[in-house]
This record gives sequence, structure tokens and C-alpha cells, in this order.
Amino acid sequence: MEYYSTVKQRRNTTAIVIIVFTILLLWGLWYFYSERQTHKKHLAENELQLINQLQRDNLRLWRERHVIDAAHITEDSLLNSAVTYWLNNESSIKTKNYLQDHISRSLRIMTEQRGYNAAYLVDAEGNIVLDALGKTNLRLPDQELAVMHEAFKTAGPIAIEPRLDDFFGFPFFGVITPIHDQNNNPIASIWLVTDVRTTLYTLIEKWPGNSDTAESNLIMKEGDKVLLLSPLRHPLLTNTDEESQVFSKAIDGMRGLFDAVDYRNQDVIATAALINQSPWILVSKINNEEVLKNSTQELLGLAAPIVLYLLIASAGLVYVQRQGWTREKKLTLELERIVRVDTLTNIANRLSLDENLKKEWDSAYRYKKPLSLLMIDIDFFKKFNDNYGHLEGDECLKHISKILSTSVGRSSDLVARYGGEEFAILLPDTDAKNALILGQRVCTLISKTQYQHIYSDNSSMLTVSIGLATMYPNTEEKTVHVNDLIQRADHALYKAKQSGRNQIKEFSSF
Ligand code: GH3
Ligand code: MG
Ligand code: MG
Repeated sequence: MEYYSTVKQRRNTTAIVIIVFTILLLWGLWYFYSERQTHKKHLAENELQLINQLQRDNLRLWRERHVIDAAHITEDSLLNSAVTYWLNNESSIKTKNYLQDHISRSLRIMTEQRGYNAAYLVDAEGNIVLDALGKTNLRLPDQELAVMHEAFKTAGPIAIEPRLDDFFGFPFFGVITPIHDQNNNPIASIWLVTDVRTTLYTLIEKWPGNSDTAESNLIMKEGDKVLLLSPLRHPLLTNTDEESQVFSKAIDGMRGLFDAVDYRNQDVIATAALINQSPWILVSKINNEEVLKNSTQELLGLAAPIVLYLLIASAGLVYVQRQGWTREKKLTLELERIVRVDTLTNIANRLSLDENLKKEWDSAYRYKKPLSLLMIDIDFFKKFNDNYGHLEGDECLKHISKILSTSVGRSSDLVARYGGEEFAILLPDTDAKNALILGQRVCTLISKTQYQHIYSDNSSMLTVSIGLATMYPNTEEKTVHVNDLIQRADHALYKAKQSGRNQIKEFSSF
């Protein structure tokens, strides 16, 4: 039993160690994974904010450059004078032509060298009188006209936020700057126009990192409408209903980092910030999935060897378990055998005889076969013991056991020590006639061995007496108990003793 519990304990310890180790590993894996996720998210957030900042700086500079360009025009006294004289009806044709060339050249420099799509001279009434090529008879759109009047008042350039108008076929950004005469009265203006698709969009179109899903958009609130300046979606969108939670959050005042769902129904990390001195908000975003994608791959890379480990560990556990089971089974079988063997003579003991008797009894009934039992008792064994000693007596018992074992022929026959110096031979499927022959053979074999017993009252050699009982299921009542066979054989043995020993008697009646 002690051995049993050690085996079990060792197996349990192995299982516990493997389970604890596996739990620790899984926990470590999960910890590593979540740490990586957090780290990656932080990196992505930092990158997002940094790029948003860079793009905002670029946009601010871009905007400032246009306003500064316009301011230079207002401060250019030569150009101001040229416009004043050119507009003055008193100037000669020749002078006017010369001045027109000068003004047009200035406008051309704006378009060719400073990258404007258009540069116009507008008179105080809102008529576009000159462009880079010469005279025109266009009319300033109403919105720009209003801005011009505003610029006349402030005496400096005013930017007009990107918009769409039939005047141009593209979304444009414009600056209107006033022109003054010698008395510093505003008499005209210069309208500088740039196509936002080719100038502004390029600043936010390219994402400096190597991301597949990162993008920036400019949004701006105009009354109750929201304008979207997006290099990807063209032209200017004004319908916010179809737009994403990202934009609505930014419009509602969300600044810095936030999580949201975008117009593609993707979970994104976003950041929103105002561009200085403008109504625009730059919103940059990246798909959450892209941010975390790599760590999922890393996790899979890690999980593979761990799954392998778990498989090996489980196989090891199963192996250890099986070893334990096999050993336990062997041990159980061995124990079962030991409890059914007589330790002195090494033949079956009383327990084994009782079990077999019960089994063969049932079998005899089922197959209607006779069952015989021989009860064998050594004659005058007490005297043998008393005179030769107990140890010699034991040797004698072993001697008899061997003879009995060799005298039976079938594997189903059972030789057992019934107790003390009494033995039994159970003979399944054997009738009284054949059992009698076997019993006689036993008597003969024992006398033939000439085992000395000079204290025997019968002879100087060791002899045995045998009682035989046979049960016939055909004729016997089912009510006959298994113990009846023992009692009958015992009774026959008693008869054999009475009849002078060294003989076999068959049971007839009590
Ligand atoms: P009978 O011919 O009537 O059988 O006479 P007996 O002396 O054999 O009868 P009894 O049953 O009185 O004696 C049995 C003796 O067997 C008693 C005991 O000393 C001896 N005996 C019983 N078991 C053992 C054993 O394990 N070893 C030894 N050496 N002797 C045993
Ligand atoms: Mg006896
Ligand atoms: Mg005896």
C-alpha cells in the first residue's frame, strides 16, 4: 500500500508541476501579448501625433506664405503706384501700356514663380481688369467682393477659406490684398488664387510612415455645414451625415488622441488639432487593426512552440500515467495471486479453493457436468510432528503438495491446501469413477515415494486417507449447497480413516 501511494504521489506531483508550469506559461504569454499591444498602441499614438503636428506645421506655413505673398503686394509701393496711374484716366496711352505691362508681369511672377493658379487685378467696383496675360472683363464673385471691401477697411490681406465656385472648376483658396493710391486710399485689389488639390492636398496626402491605413483629413465648420478637405474624397464634401464618428467628434471639440469608428466602419485611433490662425481642424487616424496586427503575428510565433511544448508535456503526462497504470495493474494481479497461494507449500490456499468451488459448482450446473472433490488427510501426522519435529512436518507437507500437484492432469483441476495437513483436489467435469482412479493413484504415488514415518500406527511409511464426493447436476436438486460437497467428502474421509487409513472412500450417505 505504501508503494501504491508513492507511485500515485509521484504521478500527482508530475501532473501538478506540468499544470502549474503550463498555467505560468500561458499567463506569461498573455502578459507578453498585452504588454506588446499596449507598447504598440503607444508607439502608434506617438507617431500619429507627431505626423499630425508636422502636417499642421506645413499647413500653417503654406497658409502663412500665401498671406505674406499678398502682404508683399500691398506693401509694394511701385506696384501700388503703377496700378494707381494705370487706373487714372489722365495717363497717356503710352504710359498706360507701359504700366499694364509692369502690372501683368507682376501678376505673371505670382503665377509662374510663386505657383498660383491665377492672379488678378480687381478694381474698386469688383471688375477683374487685368490678369497675367492682359486685360479681362471678368467679375469678382460676390463672396470675394465682400472680402475685398473688408480688406479695404483693414488695409491688409484677407484669406478666403477653400471653397468651390463656378468661377473655377476646382476647389480653390484665395487671398485678397488691397492696392492703395498715394493718399493711402484703397483703389483696387489683387486676388491670388491657388488650387487646393495640387498645393494643399499634397501636404497631407502622403503619410510619412509606412502605414496602409493612416490618413489625414482637413475639416472645417461653416455655419451648420461641415467642409471636408480630403485628398482621397473629392470634391469638397459638405454632407456630414455620411461622415464618420471621427469627424463629428472632432467638430464637437474633441482634441488630442481618441478612439472612434470611421466612415469605413473601422475602429481607429485618431487625433484632432486646430491649425493655428485658421478654422481648419486636421484629423489624422490609423486603423486599430493595423496597429495591433504585428503583435498578433508575434503571438502566433510564440504560441507555436508553446503549443508544441504543451503537446509534449501532455504526451509525457499520458506516458507517466500509463506507466503508473501498468505498474498498478501488475501489482494488483500479483497481490491477487499472493492472497490465493499457500505460503508454505506454494499451492492454492483455502480462499482459492472456496472461490473455485463456487465457480465450478455454477459451471457444473450450467453445463450439466459432474464435479468431484477429493479431501486428503495425512495419516498420524500429529505423531510425525511430535517425533520428527515441526520443521520436518513442514517439509512433509511440501512433499505431499508436490505429489498432489503432479498427480492431476488437467489445467482445470485444482490442488489446494485446505488447512493444517489436509488437502483438497477439485476435479471439474469428472465423475466418481475417474475421481476414484485419481485418488487411488495419489495413494499409490505417496506410498511409492517411501517417505519414512516409523511412528505411524499403520506402517513405517507415510500414508494418506482420501474422501471422495461427486455432485451430478442432472440428478441432484439445485437446492444442494456447495458446502454439502465439502461435508460429503469430509464424511467419506472420516470413513476412510475409520476403515484403517491409507485408502480412498467414496461418499454414499451420512
Ligand atoms: P489422523 O490420522 O486421524 O489424521 O491423525 P492425525 O495425527 O493426522 O490427526 P490430527 O488432525 O489430530 O493432527 C493434525 C496435526 O497436523 C496437528 C498439527 O500438529 C499438525 N499440523 C497442522 N498444520 C501443520 C503445519 O502447518 N505444519 C506442521 N508441521 N504440522 C501441522
Ligand atoms: Mg487432520
Ligand atoms: Mg491427519
